[in-house]
Amino acid sequence: MPSRKICIVGVGKIAHDQHVPAIEASPDWELAATVSRAGSVEGVPSFRDFDAMLSERPDIGVVSLCLPPQPRYDYARKALKAGRHVMLEKPPGQTLAEVHALGAMAREAGVTLYATWHSRMAKGVAAAKAWLAGQEVLGGSIAWKEDVRHWHPGQEWVFQPGGMGVFDPGVNALSILTEILPEPVHLTEADLDYPEGRDTPIAARLRFTRGIVAEFDWLQLGPQTWDIEIETARGRLRLALGGNDLSIDGVARPVDAPGEYPALYARMTGLVEAGGSDVDLSPMVHVADAMSLGRRRIVAPFAF
Ligand code: NAP
Repeated sequence: MPSRKICIVGVGKIAHDQHVPAIEASPDWELAATVSRAGSVEGVPSFRDFDAMLSERPDIGVVSLCLPPQPRYDYARKALKAGRHVMLEKPPGQTLAEVHALGAMAREAGVTLYATWHSRMAKGVAAAKAWLAGQEVLGGSIAWKEDVRHWHPGQEWVFQPGGMGVFDPGVNALSILTEILPEPVHLTEADLDYPEGRDTPIAARLRFTRGIVAEFDWLQLGPQTWDIEIETARGRLRLALGGNDLSIDGVARPVDAPGEYPALYARMTGLVEAGGSDVDLSPMVHVADAMSLGRRRIVAPFAF
């Protein structure tokens, strides 16, 4: 099978860190162009204007949108209307409704839409899901605590409407939770800390049905924490290191996977070949519910 031509749109942190290396390492894909107002990838034709890329490169059938969520819908809509398959970084949009609209467009155009959740591809997630299958969940806790200045240096969009604040990393935890639980849970309570003068929270404490609680914090210095624990009658499952390390009752379990972004691109290959789409909004439903239900507390101002 010859490799498929793909275009990256938004050449920023995650494109450089993960998308470009994953595409370049895959025999399935050829990075044939980029679209970015400032960024580019050495040796790859770059466009400043998305419409120009769509009209001048009909040979490129797939577009991977690595933009922040706020501008993503307009780019996705144009790509789908132009008959291109589309891959969306997480979270797939700034609202649920706009992603539902994109799903309908993809169906109408007969192309693939893949709303990726990279944390679901972490090494321990599939094994955790398999272990939890058929079990009754008695409780659980999520601790997702990282340093926003390290992971999002200077990215003001995370504190602007639609940027989701601490839910930008927190939705990664929720993407794992919604993947591994044998039955869905829903949010019942939320406390959200908004830095004075900012539009999105910097910390959140959530409570779900089945006794599951979550704590998201974006000001953690030193070691970073991305842990999920689920209690069942058969034992306690722990996923640490963002889903990459699995243990049951303190005993490490073997895990194996190709890595998050290589796995996402392999999944995209399968979806395009099968003519399918994958648009699961369940992680984002919890975020929307937290914004809807959450008590707001104003905390100290934040600056990068
Ligand atoms: P970023 O570096 O701030 O932005 C990515 C690129 O998008 C920018 O370089 C910019 O390229 C373009 N862009 C930004 N605002 C735009 C706008 N209003 N209109 C058009 N283009 C715009 O962000 P990122 O960290 O790569 O994150 C992008 C997405 O990946 C987010 O949804 C994030 O949740 C997800 N993600 C990030 C990380 C991470 O470690 N940062 C990890 C996993 C997933 P130009 O200015 O050159 O056009």
